[in-house]
Amino acid sequence: MGEYLCREHFIEYFERRVYETIRHFQLIEEGDRVAVAVSGGKDSLTTLYLLTKFSKELKSEVFGVAVDEGIAGYREYKLQALSKLANDLGVKIFIGRFKDYFDMTLDEAVERLRGKGMKIKPCSVCGVFRRFIMNKMARELGATKLATGHNLDDEVQVFVMNALKAHIEGVEREGINSRTTGEGLVPRIKPLYLITEKEVLTYTLLKGIHTPFVECPYIVYALRHPIRHWINHVEDETPSFKYKVLALKELTRKLLPKPLEGAQRCLVCGEPSSRPVCKACLFRAYLDKDFEHRLIQKISLYEASKRLKSDF
Ligand code: SF4
Repeated sequence: MGEYLCREHFIEYFERRVYETIRHFQLIEEGDRVAVAVSGGKDSLTTLYLLTKFSKELKSEVFGVAVDEGIAGYREYKLQALSKLANDLGVKIFIGRFKDYFDMTLDEAVERLRGKGMKIKPCSVCGVFRRFIMNKMARELGATKLATGHNLDDEVQVFVMNALKAHIEGVEREGINSRTTGEGLVPRIKPLYLITEKEVLTYTLLKGIHTPFVECPYIVYALRHPIRHWINHVEDETPSFKYKVLALKELTRKLLPKPLEGAQRCLVCGEPSSRPVCKACLFRAYLDKDFEHRLIQKISLYEASKRLKSDF
């Protein structure tokens, strides 16, 4: 931004920027029922706060969906902060638990991952399970949009991680709104896409939006952890580095072909998936012997019925 602003003008600038982003990219339209994915962190609380504030003007409806992964000493504190803000705003929050959907908490899943040599990292399982629950809950609650609190820093970090892994599909997928709108997938929007993490932090401090400073114990396993430090270091040395990376990301996405519309349904759970069996079911089978057995049975039945059909 490159300007010094007083409290009042900073708040005005911040809110206007988010509002104009929503308008410019048509993230929310009249009549939308917006589910805000809230973790209880500063970004998602800010998103919930602002979308509620703008809902009258945007003629939309807002509610929150949260996921309790079952991370002891972390998630309960974040959910407390969320419940306080939701109460103040008078917004309804719906909570989905890993235990109910996958029959294991993340803490239990991590124990099993450890037993298997940690070849798969906790954040990979957590991210896939969380996206699964968020989309399913939002859809079942009648949401027409699913808003997340991803800010500019998150987007730059994910882009760099995807670039380092040569994961072009990931680059394509992570825009300000989702370009795939297959059956069963609630379109995702990111109202804080053009706002830096520092700006969000400043806004929450000025507005008194509180979240406890607790960190997930599994963050140390995430590739994002060192990448984040590296990007912040380069930004300190070269101001506006993050904006340039975001611009590069957008240019790259423009050159990539739009993905084919319409995800298929997972053979096992029936949820939208880009492959015959969704990643959530594959991870669950990896961590749970009984579920693995059920998954194999379903796939064998499917293969047998396919063979039968082709024989007649
Ligand atoms: Fe899940 Fe990783 Fe985030 Fe912890 S740091 S909540 S494990 S994605």
